[in-house]
Amino acid sequence: MSLERDLHKRSGSKCELCSNTENLTVYEVAPQKNGGLEERVLVCGTCLEQIENPDAMDANHWRCLNDSMWSEQIPVQVVAWRMLSRLRGLGWPQDLLDMLYLEEEVLEWAKATGEGAPAEDQIIHRDSNGVVIEAGDSVVLIKDLPVKGSSMVAKRGTAVRRVSLDHENAEYIEGKVDGQQIVILTKYVKKL
Ligand SMILES: [Zn+2]
Repeated sequence: MSLERDLHKRSGSKCELCSNTENLTVYEVAPQKNGGLEERVLVCGTCLEQIENPDAMDANHWRCLNDSMWSEQIPVQVVAWRMLSRLRGLGWPQDLLDMLYLEEEVLEWAKATGEGAPAEDQIIHRDSNGVVIEAGDSVVLIKDLPVKGSSMVAKRGTAVRRVSLDHENAEYIEGKVDGQQIVILTKYVKKL
């Protein structure tokens, strides 16, 4: 049995968020429990890119949630809730969120990735001195760090420019060292 085929059947071969019919892929709604149909959504390339990259958000695209948030499909409701939460500062997404009622356990699932958490619950990345690191900041390594899966060692004193943050874990940031994207523990860096 193919999950993808079942999802095409469920959605009528349309993006379950914006109804686009091109570039459809299966999106696994994290965190997964059993990985079944009930934890997946068929999405188009445009939706997928923006779900995965908050920096690429085109707010107008998500007007589609006006319709799709009423989907009977729980995973679609979860993704709709997360996207609206991400955009709620704009006003209209907050209005939609106010109308969107989720069962308690569904809401819990929706909140599990930290999307839409109030500021004090948000994951904050701090360097070895407790200074807050934001996406795009530069840091310097305070320790020689072996790079997982390679023989490379990122040397102490190496500057890493324009880091990105792991949105699920406050201890990890990512950046390029010698042209290679690596994951770095925040306790081994100092913000520049
Ligand atoms: Zn879409």
